[in-house]
Amino acid sequence: MARYTGAVCRQCRREGQKLFLKGERCYSDKCALTRRNFAPGQHGQARKKVSEYGVQLRAKQKAKKYYGVLESQFRKYFVMAERQAGITGENLLRILESRLDNVVYRAGFAMSRAEARQLVLHRHFTVNGETVNIASYLCKEGDVIELRTRDCEKIKECSEKNSGRPTPVWMNLEKDNYKATLTRLPDRADIDFDVEEHLIVELYSK
Ligand code: SF4
Repeated sequence: MARYTGAVCRQCRREGQKLFLKGERCYSDKCALTRRNFAPGQHGQARKKVSEYGVQLRAKQKAKKYYGVLESQFRKYFVMAERQAGITGENLLRILESRLDNVVYRAGFAMSRAEARQLVLHRHFTVNGETVNIASYLCKEGDVIELRTRDCEKIKECSEKNSGRPTPVWMNLEKDNYKATLTRLPDRADIDFDVEEHLIVELYSK
């Protein structure tokens, strides 16, 4: 599986926004964006005039990085979103939110989406009683995501650390049982990601 192997915090600095890619560190003073809130590289602090295309590109790149999805997969989601009824940009975000790694992260079982992805790959979770080790598995309304390996100290630790994080309204979380039930899929208003999704639609519609 192809994946990004560069410096993680550079991605947030490039977008000028916290993308919460590193778990606990993102909430601390050690966050690179807090310390160096400018784009990485030699010309990172230079003023640049950004074209319309540049703005659209940055919106797309930001969404890809936030959800940890590479270009080909992201484009597939866009095609899927286009075919669905409703607003394409909102459909796209809903699809991204319904990925199993994102659901595990949102439920507070992992500190970041990357960690959630690894936990899913290591077969720690079941969906409706079946073990699923595919991070891109798209969850549906009514799906029950449960921790299979109850003795996993790491997940228990994460769950405790994340206890202050708000539970999404589209999820019924039984923290003591490490179980999350999707009561519905999220609407745009339920997704706390600061992105103008219409820019992504405009970019792909060219
Ligand atoms: Fe982004 Fe987290 Fe790194 Fe801060 S610590 S720059 S939020 S990945």
